Amino acid sequence: MRKKQFKAESKKLLDMMINSIYTHKEIFLRELISNASDAIDKLYFKSLTDDSVKLAREDFKIHIDLDKENRTIKITDNGIGMTAEELENNLGTIAKSGSFNFKKENADNEKADDISVIGQFGVGFYSSFMVADKVEVISKAFGEDIAHKWVSSGADGYTIEECEKENAGTEIILEIKDNTDDENYDEFLEQYRIQGLVKKYSDYIRYPIVMDMTKSRVKEETKDSDKPEY
Ligand code: ADP
Repeated sequence: MRKKQFKAESKKLLDMMINSIYTHKEIFLRELISNASDAIDKLYFKSLTDDSVKLAREDFKIHIDLDKENRTIKITDNGIGMTAEELENNLGTIAKSGSFNFKKENADNEKADDISVIGQFGVGFYSSFMVADKVEVISKAFGEDIAHKWVSSGADGYTIEECEKENAGTEIILEIKDNTDDENYDEFLEQYRIQGLVKKYSDYIRYPIVMDMTKSRVKEETKDSDKPEY
């Protein structure tokens, strides 16, 4: 499949994230939870006037699944989702609030300390690349029949292809980087660490964030009652 290239300014932000030595890499989770919550808001508001949204207020949730063995974190929402075109426009280009501010600020300050700017703004989806060397976004837009998968391993571009997904919403799967001499990425696969971050960053989130507590090596679905909600 042909790889598409990121737009120049996106590539710059992306490179910065990939090579970041910023110590608070954990903010990626804040950004992804916030995006998931925004997407749910959109579908929830739609549900108030559109009977074809067959979800009640309490059905809207954000799930976080950790898979230590495969080194992945998956963040799932049942929000509005994205079409192929939206995946392309939203994730291939910086056009939006947080990332755009960041870029603008940084352009004025070309040689200055990039790192100091990261924590100050919502840097958005690309912050995933501070902790992951591959990111997959599987999304189905509400009202569409076909789902799409966006995949990128960073600076060399991204691909978009059709895939299977039953319900509207988005799944973001991060393949967490291997530890280096200087950086411990394993911590982002630890349940207690992620739980702590969820508590820290989810004050303003109005939907439950549910984490799968499965500890066994075989992946099994726990009963809903076993899942802590924040
Ligand atoms: P920002 O959130 O500041 O707009 P991001 O880079 O985080 O910037 O995201 C870019 C855009 O991608 C969002 O504005 C939104 O339209 C879309 N997006 C990101 N995550 C999701 C998601 N989970 N569901 C639906 N759309 C999303």
